[in-house]
Amino acid sequence: MRNVLVTGASRGIGAQCARLFAQNEDNVYINYYRSQKNAEGLLDELLGSGFSAHIIKADVSDPIQVKEMFAQIETECVGIDVLVNNAGIAQTKLFTDISDKDWDKMIAVNLSSAFYCCRAALPYMIRRKSGRIINISSVWGQIGGSCEVHYSAAKAGIIGLTKALAQEEGLSGITVNCVAPGVIRTDMTSHLSEDDFNALKEEIATAVIGTPDDIAKAVLFLASPSSSFITGQVLPVNGGQC
Ligand code: NAP
Repeated sequence: MRNVLVTGASRGIGAQCARLFAQNEDNVYINYYRSQKNAEGLLDELLGSGFSAHIIKADVSDPIQVKEMFAQIETECVGIDVLVNNAGIAQTKLFTDISDKDWDKMIAVNLSSAFYCCRAALPYMIRRKSGRIINISSVWGQIGGSCEVHYSAAKAGIIGLTKALAQEEGLSGITVNCVAPGVIRTDMTSHLSEDDFNALKEEIATAVIGTPDDIAKAVLFLASPSSSFITGQVLPVNGGQC
């Protein structure tokens, strides 16, 4: 049974990743920060279905909390075999209105968190000469999103981190890839009206808004034996948005 850590798994895409890994008979660690009730609800759901799951609180933008989270996990299991860096925040602002605080927080939660978690997960993976890291980027990290410059920069950073780390860890039997979701219906996009969604659909080849399940299936694939020859790649899951 593999040990899987999904960051930001209390809601949305992360929660669905946790469900699919649990259904895949992996032992799942559900990281949350603020949404304890959601995390507990998901834990009850998974344990109630006979799956193996745990919840673990940590602000993944804080290197000390990440270190403590991994220390706790390693008292319960030997180490993490599959790391999904999913935790993220978004903010819509004109570039000229982005404050230093906005910028620092965006980079800390969306990019530095992946650095801290990869750094903590890798020693065990390197010792075992196997491991999977899947980072969640965004279509905006690929093409750039207007009024989301700080978010787009962080998500582009995730792509750079993924490609470089894949090069460094290839001989250690560790694959590092990223999924770049398009527009997905979650709390993150709940501020958008149906008119907004319809306007976005015009930029999407399939004219469909994605679901957390669309992303979680791609993540599960990148953690599966079927993808063992894929590393350093960005898998866009966006219905054909460009
Ligand atoms: P969401 O529904 O808003 O959920 C965000 C998750 O991140 C929550 O579980 C939240 O946990 C967690 N989180 C936020 N800050 C955290 C922190 N400091 N430490 C630990 N966890 C933290 O968002 P989502 O739509 O599922 O997004 C998941 C990922 O996909 C993000 O990286 C996002 O950028 C990316 N993405 C989403 C879309 C989209 O259209 N939805 C598109 C492209 C990429 P708590 O509530 O427990 O704090």
